[in-house]
This record gives sequence, structure tokens and C-alpha cells, in this order.
Amino acid sequence: MNVLKLTPYILLLLLFFFSCLATSLQVCTKAVCGMGEPEIRFPFVVKNGRQSKSCGYPGFGVSCDTRSQTVLNLPNSGDFTVQAIDYGTQEVWINDPNNCLPQRILSLNLSGSPFYGAFNQDFTFFNCTLGYFRQRLKPITCLSGSTYTIYATASFVVASYLSSKCNSLGTFPVPVQWPLYENLPSSDLSDNLRLTWDMPTCGRCESMGGRCGWRSNSSREIVCSSLPSRGIPRTARYAVAVGVGAPAVLCFLGLLCCIFGRVKSIARNRPRPISDFSSSVAPQPTFVVGLDGPTIESYPKMVLGESRRLPKPDDVTCSICLSEYRPKDTLKTIPHCRHCFHADCIDGWLRLNATCPICRKSPQPSTPPDV
Ligand SMILES: [Zn+2]
Ligand SMILES: [Zn+2]
Repeated sequence: MNVLKLTPYILLLLLFFFSCLATSLQVCTKAVCGMGEPEIRFPFVVKNGRQSKSCGYPGFGVSCDTRSQTVLNLPNSGDFTVQAIDYGTQEVWINDPNNCLPQRILSLNLSGSPFYGAFNQDFTFFNCTLGYFRQRLKPITCLSGSTYTIYATASFVVASYLSSKCNSLGTFPVPVQWPLYENLPSSDLSDNLRLTWDMPTCGRCESMGGRCGWRSNSSREIVCSSLPSRGIPRTARYAVAVGVGAPAVLCFLGLLCCIFGRVKSIARNRPRPISDFSSSVAPQPTFVVGLDGPTIESYPKMVLGESRRLPKPDDVTCSICLSEYRPKDTLKTIPHCRHCFHADCIDGWLRLNATCPICRKSPQPSTPPDV
């Protein structure tokens, strides 16, 4: 084996080994409040004793209520149930534990918390004594009474129509899942609120498969650790990560170099080399043209609320896995045709195909047609 050819790999592995030593994370356990509840890990932390307080970032403390729900307390707005957390995109979806989210929106104040709305849309609330309108206006039932009906709308046209007939309760910014509501005359606003945060910036680390946290011997420095090193066998990765002695590491280096050498020789025999990016998915035929990661990541995501209201109400099942959508499922929509799928299902599909699985429209006009 040519030693010169292996030098870059050895350097890479040494770099990996030292980065493991340098980024030793404070040991923190993950937690969940109950079945189907989101996993709690840095920057979030369960406050009531399940995890060490030092495992979280200020403002990210959650608690588990008596119904095993995950509860986030916003300093100026009170308690909300956490429906889902996306550590990679740094987003959290919340709802009202008492199932009247519009009431909470009327007094929502995110100041004092690390969170803000990624998409804020202004909704004007109206108190109408006329009862139900014949138009497609959707009343907020949990705020309405027997003699009056409350509506919320983001549409200027509907707002100006209602303002001539009803009392305006004011306009409130709502951190919606995505700004789709302009097409709806009114909303009952029962969907989850979607919040995001800037600090700590762990999204990149998380989306690369790493884990973020405080450095073990420092309480003020955040590090990214256990980044999977692609192509290295899992057992070898583990041994390196736990920091075995230098001679053992050198043995592993030798072993890994052999493996790399083999992989390289296999790759050399292929008609076209497979790029590093495709190593996370099964080997693909070279004619498959999928979308790139950042494009897939940019597509709007939503976490279904209890009402399971979808951007396209007739799509009740995911056409990729054929299962029906359930509350708390994370869905992703293709912006060009607004077809909806489970986020995991469509991510996998779009990595291999540049077209919508339902209408076959290409989300990227410049992408060459597949097959
Ligand atoms: Zn699916
Ligand atoms: Zn489509």
C-alpha cells in the first residue's frame, strides 16, 4: 500500500481523534416526559430533577406535567405544551394545554424567552353578535358564547367586511407554522405555534448528526461532539470516541487505513465515483437526480395539531408510506404544488428524485428531468 496515498487519511483521523479529545461534552442524559413526547436534550432540559440543571441552556427549561406532557413556561405568557422539537432547524412547536390556543394568542408575549416566531402573521379578532356568517368563516368556538361569535382573520378583505358588522378586538401577531392563511377567510387558530431560537446555535451540529452541549470542564463554552465520521465502521468510531490509549488508536488507525484502502480500491472499480454526500443513503444509480440538502431543508414544515388541519384538506394520508396523518406528525410541503407528506418520507424521496411523488412537478425548474 502506498503510504503517501494514505497520508491524508491518517491526518484526517488524527484530526478527528484530537477533536474528540477537545470537544468532550459534559455527560447529560436524554429525557422524555411520556410516550410520543419529544426527546429532551440540550439546549432543553427537564427542570424537575430528571436531568442536571447544568445540562440545559438558560430559558430552555421544560417540565413534565401530571398527564406526562412536556410543558414549556414562557416567562410572560405562561405554560404551553411542547408538541415537537426540531433540533436541526432550531424550532419548537407549542400549543395550549387547555385547548384554546386563540385565547393564549391574545396575550402572547415572547419577550424574556429565547424564542420568536419564524413566520409571524397578523390576525384581527372580531366579536360578532350576528351569529354564524354564511361565508366560509370559521369561528373560534372556544372563545365564542351563546350570544356572540369570535372570528380571527389575516385577510384584509374579510377584516374590512367584518369591521363594518362586528367589534374589532385588535390585531395580534401569530407565530404561524407557515404563512398559508392568506388564502383562508378566517382561521380558528388551533394549530400549533411555531417558534425558533438563535442561541445556542446547535442546528448545524445537530443536522450533521452531532450532539451539542457545554464543554465538560467549562460552563460557558458550547461544543459539538460525537459527529459521526462517515465511512468509518461504527465500532471503530466508538472506540476512538471513548478515547482509548494512543497505541490502541494507532492500531485502529492501521486497521482503518486498510479499510479505507479497500474502499478506495472498490471505488476505483466503479464506472463513476460515488460522492461523499451519497454515503448516507443506499448506493444509487448515477442517473438519479435528487435535490440538494439545503433545498430539501428549506421546504416548509409543520407539526400537526390535534385538529389535524392540513394545507390541503383532502390529503389525509401520506402517499409515500400510505399511513394516515396523526397529531404531532411532522409534515413537509412542496412549495410549488403544496402537496404534503411526512417530513421523513419526502426527505428520503427528494434526495433521490427531483419531482413531487403525486403530481410529478419538479420543484426546481432548472433541474434536469429524472430517468
Ligand atoms: Zn409518510
Ligand atoms: Zn405535487
